[in-house]
Amino acid sequence: MERVDITIIGAGIVGLAIGYKLSQSGKKNILVIDQHKSFGQETSSRNSEVIHAGLYYKPGSLKAKCCLRGNKLLYELCQKHNIPHKKLGKLVIAPTKEEIGKIENIYKNAIACGVENLTFLDKDQIRKLEPDVTAEMGILSPDTGIIDSHAAMKFFYETSKANGVEFGFGITAAVIRQCPSSYEIVVEEPDGEHFPFETTTVINCGGLWADKIAEMVGMDIDALDYRLRFNKGQYFRISNPKKFSVMRLIYPPPSKNGLGIHITPDLAGGLRLGPDDAWIDIINYDVNEADKEKFFTDVQSYLPALMLNDLAIDTAGVRPKLQKPNEAFHDFVISHEKDKRLENFINLIGIESPGLTSCLAIAEMVEGFIL
Ligand SMILES: Cc1cc2nc3c(=O)[nH]c(=O)nc-3n(C[C@H](O)[C@H](O)[C@H](O)COP(=O)(O)OP(=O)(O)OC[C@H]3O[C@@H](n4cnc5c(N)ncnc54)[C@H](O)[C@@H]3O)c2cc1C
Repeated sequence: MERVDITIIGAGIVGLAIGYKLSQSGKKNILVIDQHKSFGQETSSRNSEVIHAGLYYKPGSLKAKCCLRGNKLLYELCQKHNIPHKKLGKLVIAPTKEEIGKIENIYKNAIACGVENLTFLDKDQIRKLEPDVTAEMGILSPDTGIIDSHAAMKFFYETSKANGVEFGFGITAAVIRQCPSSYEIVVEEPDGEHFPFETTTVINCGGLWADKIAEMVGMDIDALDYRLRFNKGQYFRISNPKKFSVMRLIYPPPSKNGLGIHITPDLAGGLRLGPDDAWIDIINYDVNEADKEKFFTDVQSYLPALMLNDLAIDTAGVRPKLQKPNEAFHDFVISHEKDKRLENFINLIGIESPGLTSCLAIAEMVEGFIL
C-alpha cells in the first residue's frame, strides 16, 4: 500500500494554507486531496473576501484569537508576495438612535478581544468620510480590508507544489480506518475506482463536509457536538456602483447568524451587498430574486440614494455552522484528537467566518500540533 506522512483532506483556503505552512517548515511527504477538479471550489470562493479585524467574536475564543493573528499574518503575506488586497477600513454603523447601544457593545467586545485602533465617530464625522451613508454613530476599524482570495489560494497552491506537496484533485476521501499507528484512507477517483493508501497524520479541512470526515473515523459527531448545519448567505450587487461614493466596508449591527447586510467594495471597483442568512437542509447556491426587496430595504436605511433597480443578483455561499439556530455563539473546532485515542488526527470543523482571515493562524496552530 502507498504511504504518505501527512494527508490534508480539502483544498479550500484552510487546507491550502496548512499545506503551505507545513511545507515552508520543511515537512515532506504531504498530500492534499480534494473532491473537485481544482482548489477552492466551495466556500473559499463564495464569501465576502474580507480580512476581518476581529470585533465580534467571544473574547478568548479561537475565532477571536485566530482572527486577530490571522489578520496580521495575511496582510504580511499579501505585502510580501504581491497578493492583491486593500486595507480599506470599515465602518460599523448604527443607522438609528435605537441601535447605538449595539454599536457600543461591539466596541466593548472588540476591546476585550484585544482589537486596537478603533475610534467612535459621530454623525458628522461619518458624513465627512462617507457622504452617501447616513448613520447616527459608528466605529471606524482601519485594520479591516479586502483580499483577492483566489490569488491567495493560487499562491499557497503554487508555493506548496514548488516545495514538494502533492495534490490529488477529483479524489474523494470515502473511508478512513484507524490502524495501530496510522490511518488507511480509501479514496474514490473520478472513474469510480477506489484505492487505499496509508498515512500517519490526517488533517480534516473538509469545510461543509468536515463532520462527515470525522464520522468516517468513528467519531460520534452528535455526542461531540461536531454536527454541522448549513446556513446560506446570498449576495446582490449594485449594478451601477459609480453612482455611489462608498470608500469603506459599511456594516450595520450584526444579525444572529451573520454580520448583517453590509456593503463590501471589491477590488474591481464593484459594490456587493450581503450576505443575508437562512438555514437550509440541502446545499444550493441559487440567489432568490424575490429577496431583492429585503436587501434593498435593509441597505437603503443607511444608503438613502439606493433604488430597487440598482440591485442585481450576485452569488451565494454556505456557512458550515456548529452553532444551532438558537445558540448565540459557537467556536471553531481546531483539535488534535489524541485525547479521543485518535493520535495524529486533526479536526478543523465549523470553520465559518472568519476562516478566510484566520487561515494562516489556523495553519500555525496545526503546525504546533504536528511538530
Ligand atoms: C457567505 C460567506 C461569507 C464569508 N465571508 C468571509 C469573510 O469575508 N472573511 C472571512 O474571513 N471569512 C469569510 N467566510 C468564511 C470563509 O469563507 C471560510 O471560513 C473558509 O473559506 C473556509 O475554508 P475551508 O478551506 O475550511 O473550507 P472550503 O473552502 O469549503 O474547503 C473545503 C474543501 O474540502 C473538500 N472536501 C470535503 N469533503 C471531502 C472529501 N470527503 N474528500 C475530498 N475533499 C473533500 C471540498 O471539496 C472543499 O474544497 C464567509 C463564508 C460564507 C459562507
